[in-house]
Amino acid sequence: MRPAALLREAEDQPIALSVEEARAAIAAQVQPVTGHERLGLRSALGRVLAHDLFAPGPLPPWTTSAMDGYALHSRDLPALSDTMLAVIGRALAGHPFAGAVGPGECVQIMTGAVLPAGCDTVLRQEDVERLGDSIRVQSGQHRPGDHVRWAGEDIAAGGSVLRQGHRLEPADLGLIASLGLAEVCVRRQPKVAFFSTGDELQGLGQPLTPGMIYDSNRYTLHAMLEGLSVRILDRGTVPDDPQALETVLTGLAGQADLVLSTGGVSVGAADYVTATLQRLGEIFFWKIAMKPGKPLLFGRVGSALFFGLPGNPVSVLATFMVLVRGAILRLAGEEPPPRLRLRAHAAQALIKGRRRTDFQRGILEQGADGRLLVRTTGMQGSHMLSSMSRANCFLQLPAGVSSIDQDEEVEVLPFNTISWGAG
Ligand code: AMP
Ligand code: MG
Repeated sequence: MRPAALLREAEDQPIALSVEEARAAIAAQVQPVTGHERLGLRSALGRVLAHDLFAPGPLPPWTTSAMDGYALHSRDLPALSDTMLAVIGRALAGHPFAGAVGPGECVQIMTGAVLPAGCDTVLRQEDVERLGDSIRVQSGQHRPGDHVRWAGEDIAAGGSVLRQGHRLEPADLGLIASLGLAEVCVRRQPKVAFFSTGDELQGLGQPLTPGMIYDSNRYTLHAMLEGLSVRILDRGTVPDDPQALETVLTGLAGQADLVLSTGGVSVGAADYVTATLQRLGEIFFWKIAMKPGKPLLFGRVGSALFFGLPGNPVSVLATFMVLVRGAILRLAGEEPPPRLRLRAHAAQALIKGRRRTDFQRGILEQGADGRLLVRTTGMQGSHMLSSMSRANCFLQLPAGVSSIDQDEEVEVLPFNTISWGAG
């Protein structure tokens, strides 16, 4: 759709996309950045794997003992009466037993030591009786293959380890290290620039003159971006002035992969972001049927995608979490697993506007009976950032519904995937 047509139509009769339509419109525009780099494992935490990774050898690399005890061949396990086996040597982790184990023989073995030739079973130290250079093994107690870790039982040689698009977590780095790989090939991080707009905004450390407020959005956005695999460019606070906006946007158009701004996207007298983007670039949409976050501008300027977020601090977080974050993951080439759709019982009756999807701030708790319960944080003004600070989830209440009964099930979006509490 031509931007001018979209805007004209929008002024006459606002077209507000549903959250799902907005997601689809965003997905249609966002392509993963190209380019990759090789990094040492220590530098790769949180980065996105550029290629599928296959195991150069088996994991574990050797067949070893899972216990401290004795290695033997299962044909020597007694069926009917106890038997004695001669202990002919010792195998320690890192010090394999050099010989072979024959009938009637065994080797003392420690956890992690390679299983000697001729053995397929380990008996735990506490399950046998040591008598000088022999052990007594009870009949009927043991099975062939007990307490053995087989080479390749975790990952076979040549087997798939991790898929491209996977974001590297601590366990992944350990896994890659266990395959002997010191480096990993990851995608280039997209450059994400952001700035705040508003004549009322003051930097921290300055006294507040009448009518001014501190620019908190820059801190929220910076923190949200730090959790993603991106390079962050902070472009500061920009006044409500079309010329100043034009200068910043033009500068970023050829530099960033994605630009985020806050404020100046509604229909107020000093809201210049939408018109400036329309002049310099292209608009894909600018209204979404969600609360908070109704004005959300999405477009492109030069080679950069652009999101104009609303100014209200809660709307910034809501639009970022619901729509922008997914776009950044896609831009970074990340293919996240499908999200958990959690449902919880509403601890109170709720009301909402029928036409929009609500993202109310919620506190999700587990009752003594194990049921998940969710209550709101109270007043839901989109300027009330403390409501977000106290919340641990959004209650996502769909369009088409205007009230929720107490105890009715609602969908919740936890802010962190799973909370461990204190452990
Ligand atoms: P706007 O979308 O520019 O009309 O802003 C909506 C509301 O959010 C106004 O009350 C602004 O003062 C406030 N606001 C805008 N930008 C920021 C910011 N960076 N930090 C805190 N509040 C802001
Ligand atoms: Mg403003």
